[in-house]
Amino acid sequence: MNKIMIVTGGSRGIGAATALMAAQRGYSVCVNYLHNRAAADGVVNSIEKLGRRAIAVAADMASEQDVVRLFENVDKELGRVTALVNNAGVLEKQTRLEGIDAARLTRVFATNVTGAFICSREAVRRMSTKHGGEGGGIVNVSSRASQIGSPGEYIDYAASKGAVDSLTLGLAKEVAEEGIRVNAVRPGFIYTEMHASGGEPGRVDRVKAFAPMKRGGTAEEVASAILWLLSDEASYITGAFIDVSGGR
Ligand code: NAP
Repeated sequence: MNKIMIVTGGSRGIGAATALMAAQRGYSVCVNYLHNRAAADGVVNSIEKLGRRAIAVAADMASEQDVVRLFENVDKELGRVTALVNNAGVLEKQTRLEGIDAARLTRVFATNVTGAFICSREAVRRMSTKHGGEGGGIVNVSSRASQIGSPGEYIDYAASKGAVDSLTLGLAKEVAEEGIRVNAVRPGFIYTEMHASGGEPGRVDRVKAFAPMKRGGTAEEVASAILWLLSDEASYITGAFIDVSGGR
């Protein structure tokens, strides 16, 4: 079977590391991005240098129409998807609950939750043996925040990842007999540009001491767990979570 992966938010951070590692393991890769075309093209170039196929597709995971178009592009250009990594995620400025309004909740949930649901739907329609597919794997990039709650920083983001955890549990059971495994990783403090969106680019170095291993993690360390969950080595694992968080 041709291995074809879609990585949402694959232009930077954990998504870019996952896309590259997937190519090293034989996947053709669709690198989705929102705005940063140059970064997405950079990932595609690196993959092509490895002798693998890759395409960059701009699509907003908060838009159902964009998600549907993304999957149709992949059908046409790469073939039927076999692995989906629901990685695109956003957070906003650090604040207590008193600073959160409905518009912010709508933005955060649209990308982190609705995006993961609609992408998963499109993947199931193509992977499920019930729909004539050959099976596949989905990995959701949740966060340790779903269980810690992110007090004083972004409870909204933490709650959106709680929804991603429930999606993982429910969908895993729903499609378990149809050749699809659904799992999640829950990263802790990872060195990426995401923390700048919260207003604190150096956050990992401030909080890393809270992790028993006393360091932040790398995007590659998260990518390794994602690729393992998608591999045949994890063939009897579904509805499971790997915390990639230095013990926290
Ligand atoms: P990042 O460095 O900020 O990269 C975010 C990626 O998502 C970029 O490729 C960005 O595209 C894309 N993106 C953002 N909104 C999008 C949208 N609406 N539609 C499509 N793509 C979108 O983030 P990261 O730290 O690698 O985070 C990746 C995932 O890991 C997220 O789900 C995050 O919640 C989770 N996570 C991260 C940490 C951490 O410490 N970093 C911890 C726990 C969980 P552009 O390049 O076009 O902007």
